[in-house]
Amino acid sequence: MSILEITKLQKSYGEIEVLKQITFDVNKNDVIAVIGPSGSGKSTMLRSIVNLEKIDGGSIRVCGDHLVKDGIYAKPQEIKQITSKMGMVFQHFNLFPHLTVKENLELAPKMLKIEHAKVIQQRSADLLEKVGLSDRAAAYPSKLSGGQKQRVAIARALMMNPDIMLFDEPTSALDPELTGEVLKVMKQLAEEHMTMIVVTHEMGFAKEVANQVIFMDNGRIIESGHPTELFINPKLDRTKAFIERSF
Ligand code: ADP
Ligand code: MG
Repeated sequence: MSILEITKLQKSYGEIEVLKQITFDVNKNDVIAVIGPSGSGKSTMLRSIVNLEKIDGGSIRVCGDHLVKDGIYAKPQEIKQITSKMGMVFQHFNLFPHLTVKENLELAPKMLKIEHAKVIQQRSADLLEKVGLSDRAAAYPSKLSGGQKQRVAIARALMMNPDIMLFDEPTSALDPELTGEVLKVMKQLAEEHMTMIVVTHEMGFAKEVANQVIFMDNGRIIESGHPTELFINPKLDRTKAFIERSF
């Protein structure tokens, strides 16, 4: 089953075209690693998928519903419903600094008012346990390490029971000794069959966890394949050079 269908995604900032006819599908339980040099459009692509950026052309379909079809966006109410199926984790955590860990997790679901407070509280407790932070529920983000902040951000994104999780370089802002605890949570999610797109420089993680790797360069997907094939036997010289630099 297709969770995400991206077709001929096109986006420009002024004169500069940053996404050039990006097309790919994400099926249920896929873990897709997106790699590529800085400035190649990886963040813009993820941000467009979750509707933090508007695209200029192409289609984005989530669990069968079009967020955008041939450049035409769905109605606001439909957009809300469609984007609620996606959880996003950013490089710089984006936690609310004035809210505790528990409040960060519970804010969005409580605002939606479609579930009982008790149900929401139970889920936040379960998710904090899952990411190993039950004892930090009452802490403010400023009191947490980077690795802990990112684990809170992951738990928060999971609060809405998303059909797909998107990660934009989730460990790039972390001290090297803290990346492991975040990658471990992500690996566990993958093992529980969460559908994921992960923009990452962690080639070891991509190789071990992803079932597909997409290599982006200058606004295009120039090569993609299973990690064993793309990392060991890349077709293009550009891919090969990037991979040699990255491992
Ligand atoms: P990546 O995540 O692969 O490093 P980005 O998606 O951040 O790439 O950026 C792709 C290109 O778009 C870059 O050339 C970047 O300078 C440009 N860009 C990104 N965001 C903006 C913006 N808000 N305004 C103008 N240009 C932008
Ligand atoms: Mg980026």
